[in-house]
Amino acid sequence: MSTYVDRVIEETRKKNPDQPEFLQTVTEVLTSVAPVVDAHPEYEKAALLERLVEPERQVMFRVAWVDDEGKPHVNRGYRIQFNGALGPYKGGLRFHPTVNLSILKFLGFEQVFKNSLTTLPIGGGKGGSDFDPHGKSDAEIMRFCQAFMTELQRHIGPNTDVPAGDIGVGGREIGYLFGQYRRVRDSWDNGVLTGKPLTYGGSLIRPEATGYGVLYYAKNVFAHENDTLEGKTVVLSGYGNVAWGAAKKIAEMGGKAVTISGHNGYVYDPDGIVTEEKINYLLEMRASKNANVKMYADKFGCQFFEGKKPYEVKADVYIPCATQNEVGMDEAKLIVDAGAKYYFEGANMPATNEALAYLQEHGVIVGPAKAANAGGVAVSALEMSQNSERLSWTSEEVDAKLNTIMTSIHDESAKAAEKYGFGYDLIKGANIAGFVKVADAMMSQGLF
Ligand code: NDP
Repeated sequence: MSTYVDRVIEETRKKNPDQPEFLQTVTEVLTSVAPVVDAHPEYEKAALLERLVEPERQVMFRVAWVDDEGKPHVNRGYRIQFNGALGPYKGGLRFHPTVNLSILKFLGFEQVFKNSLTTLPIGGGKGGSDFDPHGKSDAEIMRFCQAFMTELQRHIGPNTDVPAGDIGVGGREIGYLFGQYRRVRDSWDNGVLTGKPLTYGGSLIRPEATGYGVLYYAKNVFAHENDTLEGKTVVLSGYGNVAWGAAKKIAEMGGKAVTISGHNGYVYDPDGIVTEEKINYLLEMRASKNANVKMYADKFGCQFFEGKKPYEVKADVYIPCATQNEVGMDEAKLIVDAGAKYYFEGANMPATNEALAYLQEHGVIVGPAKAANAGGVAVSALEMSQNSERLSWTSEEVDAKLNTIMTSIHDESAKAAEKYGFGYDLIKGANIAGFVKVADAMMSQGLF
């Protein structure tokens, strides 16, 4: 392998010893693109990889807010502006107690290549806070969002950095964040955030986009294998925004999602999460103050497996939609033992590098996160276009564009893998296709 790639991975390791998630994705991406780097000696002369692994800017700030009893709390806020070579920084905000620099740098780094793959003019960024929305009242969420945006507004704008949602940040939080941005800036810049409600510039299909996108991407993989989703069972993890969109599209495509999960266990529904009532209930759970996956088991009379992950259920297709590194070697072995042929990542980096290698070595086709879940950010970029035009597109228009983008991501990934001798390896293909465009843009813009 390229000695330049090895050296940069090693240097990144030394510089960021306390950031395991960030190092995991840097190792995965740079290892994949080594053949491209070897073919371009000019990259090393321009210190391209050293610049690629260093965020252009990272902001950390204090967020002080009061709870309903008047007690003050202090959280930490972040925004990582990772790479702006292709457009304004773009990427979600995550509110979760596990948020730290390593998590946000891994998400920001992934976002750079994901956004490149969409072919839309967006750079990569990510942000959030270690604030835990679980168990908070609506008023507490609003006060936290207002305090967070009071500082964040200095660093973002429709042409500089456009955040969206992620874990713990949905339409409600985006609404409070936008309200505070507007109050402080006194300017109608609705292109500053995406994932907004429809009444002030949100896009139709944005809530569904990540989950739908995973299935549109999967459709191309099935076509490649002369197969379809019809009659297949699917194990989903998570029960949030991405899992909801995925469940909806799986049912439409004739498949059957049989599990959902949360931090405390999973629910098995052998009849499938296929009716409108069941699918819509996921939204209700996600929005409730004490959101918990067990609510589904209680309501629909299915089994809840406390403290367990859904990968012990046998299925034809596995689609993790919860959080990072939930698929380790144990789970990868369960997927292979189930005889599954397909694994698509709705969540970001849901598997360890070791687990991914095991799945691929055992013939499972892996649709990696930066390709399979790019539909969310793609429709966010379409929301930015609509905001710039001051027009709204129909759901059919947005959905058709999303479908086309996901097909192009699949095809470009497959082509890049083939070109560099990796056959139908969609992980390497996505990394290479995403990387080439960012590398070209950085080379053309000179050293900075
Ligand atoms: P939500 O906040 O809507 O849902 C998060 C889900 O993940 C919940 O079911 C939650 O369960 C579960 N979860 C969170 N932490 C853990 C944990 N430590 N262990 C097990 N389960 C956990 O988030 P999204 O659906 O928006 O995001 C899910 C994933 O998809 C994330 O990886 C995100 O980065 C990725 N993604 C999201 C996009 C979007 O458009 N929203 C776009 C692309 C990727 P519980 O409440 O019980 O903790």
